[in-house]
Amino acid sequence: MNCLHGKPAVYSTTSNGTFWFCGQNSSCNFICAENECYMFEKAIMAWRCTEQPHPRCREHNKLAKMCVVKDLMKESYGRPFFVCGEKGKKCSFWMWGDVYPIAKPECHHGLPCVIRKVKKEGLNKDRVFFCCPNDKECTCRFFEWAPDEQVGFFQTVNFSEEPLENKEKNNYLATEFINSLANELKL
Ligand SMILES: [Zn+2]
Ligand SMILES: [Zn+2]
Ligand SMILES: [Zn+2]
Repeated sequence: MNCLHGKPAVYSTTSNGTFWFCGQNSSCNFICAENECYMFEKAIMAWRCTEQPHPRCREHNKLAKMCVVKDLMKESYGRPFFVCGEKGKKCSFWMWGDVYPIAKPECHHGLPCVIRKVKKEGLNKDRVFFCCPNDKECTCRFFEWAPDEQVGFFQTVNFSEEPLENKEKNNYLATEFINSLANELKL
């Protein structure tokens, strides 16, 4: 079993069972229970395939902790995702670990789009789309569905390259979105 550094993990037995964890000086926050090794190995492999660097949460700038969706009933069963790796009060950082970063289209204003999810009941519920970052009064009504293979789009929820005036709003949307997903996954 290797940690996210790609180095052999170390293990230790506690009253809660045996766990593998990162043995490096600057920990990658890897930890997995002995009976979940296979799951984590597959998840780490999926993450490595994206060739993305180990993400850091924005608030603490700490290497994020990899988790795996363990609910057999979920379509996302077995998928890796990253959360804040801080020991104490965690921030709301959340992203899938097995998706490639995607480029967001620009709206008719030439602004990078924001990503929203259909909340209304119906055929398109939970589909993800791109739209104008401006609010109702000044929207250019740009609209585009996100391609299905990009539904695990959380890597795009990094708004750092966007103009400052959009930042606050977008971060709010992102947080709102992530929180709702986190609720769904009971994190
Ligand atoms: Zn490590
Ligand atoms: Zn954090
Ligand atoms: Zn626009």
